[in-house]
Amino acid sequence: MRWGKGGSSAGAWLFAAAAVCCVSPASNAGSPAEPADAGTVSVQQPSSPAAADAGSPAYARIRAALESTWTEATDIWASLVGRDLYDSDTPMIDFVPVVKAAHCYGLYIGAGPVYCSGNNTIFVSLAEMQRLETKIPGFSDDGLGLLVAHELGHHIQKITGRFRLLSILMRQSPGSERDLVRRFELEADCLAGMWAARSHLEAGHREALLAAAEVIGDDRVYVAGETASDPAMFTHGSAVQRRHWFEAGLNASAIEQCHVLDAEAY
Ligand SMILES: [Zn+2]
Repeated sequence: MRWGKGGSSAGAWLFAAAAVCCVSPASNAGSPAEPADAGTVSVQQPSSPAAADAGSPAYARIRAALESTWTEATDIWASLVGRDLYDSDTPMIDFVPVVKAAHCYGLYIGAGPVYCSGNNTIFVSLAEMQRLETKIPGFSDDGLGLLVAHELGHHIQKITGRFRLLSILMRQSPGSERDLVRRFELEADCLAGMWAARSHLEAGHREALLAAAEVIGDDRVYVAGETASDPAMFTHGSAVQRRHWFEAGLNASAIEQCHVLDAEAY
């Protein structure tokens, strides 16, 4: 996660825009004054990413699956939060050859997918999605759908005031930024679970989603050949935490049950 217009101290942050992602680079520690960015896992960048063949059957399959997830998930969230609130700040998804920093005001330096709060847009590189599917053991189209649902969860956090609460809590508790970001990310996992519970997915797919939530835990994700071993460095939560909060979302009847940010424990 990177925030826009950051000041030199936590109290000076202005949350005009933020870029938040789905899979944590465990080694991206960041400093307390600049919360660890959500980046990407340790997959190799293509030597010529701009040359990615957007017309390939594999990309078409992934895009179709993600568009289906998106259409269903946005309908579900419009119903859950109410059409007026949903329509006041409509989210968008943009399939791009390569996710670039310029897509989110220079705030994001990973490969995506990423949610940019400043323009309400989720940027998705199909090339990156295909690499994630290939490189993350146990991942599948279900896992990719989970990533999109997680990013949409961030938008729901925006329109329901959770970004603002995160800002307030960060100002109140300097030094707790990493813990707060981790809670914030787990909220998005929980919200993804709320989508999954209301989707038309068959039971087998929900199991696949639970497994996917687990395999993207910070302690499972490899970055530069290393696995995060220190839970204090996690930015998105462990495999157990990510599965736990996705499952909590599956069982949640109200958004408030996904409020990890100000929960006593998580
Ligand atoms: Zn995220």
